[in-house]
Amino acid sequence: MARKLAAGNWKMNGTSASLAEIDALVAACPAPEIDILICPPATLLSRMAAQTKDSAIGIGGQTCHVAAKGAHTGDISADMLVDAGASAVILGHSERRTDHSEDDASVRAQAQAAVAAGLRAIICIGETEAQRDDGVTLDVIAEQLAGSIPDDATAEALVVAYEPVWAIGTGKVPTLEQIAEVHDFIRAELSTRFGESIANATPLLYGGSVKPANAADIFAVTNVDGALVGGASLKAQDFLGIITPLEQSAAD
Ligand code: PEP
Repeated sequence: MARKLAAGNWKMNGTSASLAEIDALVAACPAPEIDILICPPATLLSRMAAQTKDSAIGIGGQTCHVAAKGAHTGDISADMLVDAGASAVILGHSERRTDHSEDDASVRAQAQAAVAAGLRAIICIGETEAQRDDGVTLDVIAEQLAGSIPDDATAEALVVAYEPVWAIGTGKVPTLEQIAEVHDFIRAELSTRFGESIANATPLLYGGSVKPANAADIFAVTNVDGALVGGASLKAQDFLGIITPLEQSAAD
């Protein structure tokens, strides 16, 4: 069984004033039964890593370059994330795929760089609304899985986040049946490619408008091992409203 994970994606949000949210989170989660991760903007990484040093909360990046260093203005390498205190990195988020033209091949290369540096790679996949309407969701998922995940993936260094593009930041959420269909499919695809033990131990996260109000229902879906949370991870109180039902589902 995969260990449960609640991961917060702060995107391009947060300044020094937001550090208080992390103090509140650390105070409220002394010994969580699940993994908790916050992925802040790069400017806050090392400060949040210091804040969470003696806690069970991990810190992650939101992307990384394929190269370890060099002439890549504005980019950040996996080694730099590790140096700043990160233990994981989100890769291939739909906003990166859209805003920065990232494709499956570049996500795969980033994942290789991340894992080589010692990071856990959280690889995001998901269909657009038009693709769902066209009935090609599972084809899209299969292609993204095949293209984005390196061949030497291990369960320790891999997390897959299913994030329907149309559900991110929109308040729209797939039905529980739709989430189940895609998560079952992802588990089966991983099993075919990497074997059952890696597939079963790899956390599969759902992401897209997860809130305290819908978290428990989503976590009750088979093959959902946690959530990748955007907006509702910015405030400790909201994120705790997602962490708590995930801890409960881990205890069941
Ligand atoms: C995300 O950005 O990964 C995300 C799921 O955002 P939100 O929770 O705000 O929909």
